[in-house]
Amino acid sequence: MARLAQTHGLTDVQQEILSTVRDFVDKEIIPVATELEHRDEYPQEIVDGLKELGVFGLMIPEEYGGLGESLLTYALCVEEIARGWMSVSGIINTHFIVAYMLKQHGTQEQKDTFLPRMAAGEVRGAFSMSEPALGSDVSAITSKAVKDGDEYVLNGQKMWLTNGGTSTLVAVLVRSDEGHPEGSAPHKSMTTFLVEKEPGFGEVRPGLTIPGKIDKMGYKGVDTTELIMDGLRIPANRVLGGVTGRGFYQMMDGVEVGRVNVAARGCGVAQRAFELGISYAQQRHTFGKPIAQHQAIQFKLAEMATKVEAAHAMMVNAARKKDSGERNDLEAGMAKYLASEYCKEVVEDAFRIHGGYGFSKEYEIERLYREAPMLLIGEGTAEIQKMIIGRRLLEEYRFQG
Ligand SMILES: Cc1cc2nc3c(=O)[nH]c(=O)nc-3n(C[C@H](O)[C@H](O)[C@H](O)COP(=O)(O)OP(=O)(O)OC[C@H]3O[C@@H](n4cnc5c(N)ncnc54)[C@H](O)[C@@H]3O)c2cc1C
Repeated sequence: MARLAQTHGLTDVQQEILSTVRDFVDKEIIPVATELEHRDEYPQEIVDGLKELGVFGLMIPEEYGGLGESLLTYALCVEEIARGWMSVSGIINTHFIVAYMLKQHGTQEQKDTFLPRMAAGEVRGAFSMSEPALGSDVSAITSKAVKDGDEYVLNGQKMWLTNGGTSTLVAVLVRSDEGHPEGSAPHKSMTTFLVEKEPGFGEVRPGLTIPGKIDKMGYKGVDTTELIMDGLRIPANRVLGGVTGRGFYQMMDGVEVGRVNVAARGCGVAQRAFELGISYAQQRHTFGKPIAQHQAIQFKLAEMATKVEAAHAMMVNAARKKDSGERNDLEAGMAKYLASEYCKEVVEDAFRIHGGYGFSKEYEIERLYREAPMLLIGEGTAEIQKMIIGRRLLEEYRFQG
């Protein structure tokens, strides 16, 4: 077992789950990841294997057929999976956020309907807040739901849905001004709808179109799409929690656990970059010795390992805080910010250690170099994390003069 990123105080069950996932990553993901990524191919066999391991139901309560595990266990599994291939952790992440939102905010009927099938990986989740004109500023959402008898009619365009094509249940955030007159706070007139659909592209349900995959720089394999609603009719019992006007808070709750998850992905990618860097540094010779014996390279390795350790510790701290039932927005924001920045830096150092070969598609670091930037953006950019951290610090350290 590797020396870095150890987590103390895990139970036997947690250790067993982690070692099973690590084994799966080493045998089933790492050997095929780069080839699949270069072909932008959906990793169906890997997904099927993770379904069998129960990863899609890790945090879903046992009464609904899941493993009922903690956020910490989940985040540590995500770290392992991202170490193998970040796109695979992306396939699980949106599913996990939707399952978490259902568990926390769903009506009993919604939980009974969706959670058991989500635990089995039969129903797969995606979530949709972003629109073509907005991402950070969620309060500016313009997609709209209007009540019509026992249904709502949804119109508008959404952007950047991870798993938009492969999912069968999308949590969509739209404006619903029913009961919330014009001029009321924008976040109080938003509602999350649970939209069921067929997987695939084109018209996947009357009034709902998933146009196709967005071509991306990295984070390939996993599909990222737009979503177009044109007179999409959704029954009132598919309003998350049964009451309109709560969507903004429900989504922010989901994104908060999602941030721990993105931090964990940053930790996993950084660990892999470190492994690749330290291995290459002992094989490549210049000026008569392995480059690892040049102090400049050793310093790089020292900095990389220190960043891997620090990011892991902050991610674990944020997950444990949430598991203890406490508010963790400060810790999650810090962990996401630090882990994604450090990930980018560690990957770049490993790339530099590879010299010219880092630029070749034959070397795994080339893939990591294109994947790391996504973590700077997803679940809130660095600037948004710093806004959250800054606000919370001013709450905690209010001037008493
Ligand atoms: C591959 C990928 C997958 C994604 N998956 C999903 C998904 O599944 N669901 C979903 O809903 N969204 C998803 N997103 C969207 C993602 O959440 C947004 O891209 C992100 O929140 C940033 O929004 P934006 O792109 O509109 O940038 P903008 O909000 O336009 O920001 C542009 C720049 O301005 C900065 N900025 C913005 N506001 C401020 C401010 N007040 N102060 C200082 N700086 C500011 C930002 O930090 C950024 O640097 C995904 C994005 C990508 C790239």
